[in-house]
Amino acid sequence: MAEFVGALDQGTTSTRFMVFDHGGGEVARHQLEHEQILPRAGWVEHNPTEIWERTRAVIQTTLNKAHLSHGDLVALGVTNQRETTVVWNRRTGRPYHNAIVWQDTRTDRIAAALERDGRGATIRHRAGLPPATYFAGGKVQWILDNVEGVRQAAETGEAIFGTIDTWVLWNLTGGTGGGVHVTDPTNASRTMLMDLETLDWDEELLSFFTIPRAMLPTIKPSSAPEPYGVTRKDGPLGGEVALTAALGDQQAATVGQVCFAPGEAKNTYGTGNFLLLNTGEELVRSDSGLLTTVCYQFGRERPVYALEGSIAVTGSAVQWLRDQLGIISGAAQSEDLARQVTDNGGVYFVPAFSGLFAPYWRSDARGAIVGLSRYNTNAHLARATLEAICYQTRDVVEAMARDSGVHLDVLKVDGGVTANQLCMQLQADILGVPVSRPVVAETTALGAAYAAGLATGFWSTTDELRTNWNQDKRWQPTWTHTQRQHGYTGWKKAVGRTLDWVDVD
Ligand code: ADP
Repeated sequence: MAEFVGALDQGTTSTRFMVFDHGGGEVARHQLEHEQILPRAGWVEHNPTEIWERTRAVIQTTLNKAHLSHGDLVALGVTNQRETTVVWNRRTGRPYHNAIVWQDTRTDRIAAALERDGRGATIRHRAGLPPATYFAGGKVQWILDNVEGVRQAAETGEAIFGTIDTWVLWNLTGGTGGGVHVTDPTNASRTMLMDLETLDWDEELLSFFTIPRAMLPTIKPSSAPEPYGVTRKDGPLGGEVALTAALGDQQAATVGQVCFAPGEAKNTYGTGNFLLLNTGEELVRSDSGLLTTVCYQFGRERPVYALEGSIAVTGSAVQWLRDQLGIISGAAQSEDLARQVTDNGGVYFVPAFSGLFAPYWRSDARGAIVGLSRYNTNAHLARATLEAICYQTRDVVEAMARDSGVHLDVLKVDGGVTANQLCMQLQADILGVPVSRPVVAETTALGAAYAAGLATGFWSTTDELRTNWNQDKRWQPTWTHTQRQHGYTGWKKAVGRTLDWVDVD
């Protein structure tokens, strides 16, 4: 009898497959990286064929390692890096161009033109997003405008678009031999093309980007009792398993952290940071620079929405200390270095490497290190880097309180940076709110597994999943109110220094 659920997590830097048991415990996993293709400044691409090869490999290796077969899996869920865009030929299965990754800024002129032409307000209202290079719509337009023959093929539905969930699901269900062309509302809500209320593609939004409807996938629930399809016998699982869930990675982590009630939030600390607050069936439109997005849609239930604060550079600022400045040899060493000092020595580092995302949305900003004096050392810089991760989070938490009226009594965290004890202590101090990390750190894959298992009845209710959540560690605030206020005032001044630095046009 099948007793496990599988989850494929196709992320920005790697692809992993994980198998979970009924208690939400990890049974097996395997992970492989893929190439980051950087053709010129600001451009970031992935090879979709390589991603599919990695997907096949991680599934096969995981099953082999754990001596499992397709028959041991009740269902399979997919979670993915969001916004990254693929256009491929339905007949040959070949991509027309490399995937354009969410961090890629080549569409800055498309985004600026939308604002200039007065379309920003419509996009904000209907799609919940500000026009920005981050989202998929402009990336699809760029491929249609710049790759020969694609537009014509898109009109007839031969060239088709998908975010990575769609690309992987199409391949898992047979590709050119009958693959399904589907996505879910969490991924579709990152395109600037979907109406958040109807959960359908919107003709006017499509017209802004001149995207033919024929190339778009069908939007199905994130947890689907009627499966999207089944895996193929000749595919990496070697047999049929129902594909019953798809969720963008941050929404999946929200599910994995069992944030099912309005007012519950999680913050994931990886390359960037992504804080999502469940707002229930209420669609909260932001006046403070947050995104309104679909959190999940389970079966025939009404969709649940979230407010999201996306921060582009957090863990990747630590990588920058390692790779560009060479002041640490590994990410974990940032903690040892920062512990050599008891405060930031007046130094603030705003890592606005690709402008500032939430809540500022300023593509004219660039990074700055301010407040330097002769006294400062590498240790202050390391400390300022960790503080920057926490201050950016505070900016987002404040915006969230303004938009929703919700004041967090605890912040649930996950992701690679949460291994840094000092950073998590600073987070509690800077927010004045306790920070709590769960035992199962792989909340993204776990969330996809939960959504897949809920669809089949493997788990019967979200309440059942709550009992699987266990705290590993909690950090309590220790700073005084004055300390907190003083520190944050300095941060706001530092952010001010980064603005208006580059001319976008
Ligand atoms: P992603 O899923 O975005 O690839 P992960 O959750 O795997 O990210 O986290 C990786 C990020 O975490 C990297 O940017 C790395 O610099 C950072 N990181 C990992 N360990 C630590 C640490 N001990 N202290 C600070 N940053 C860390």
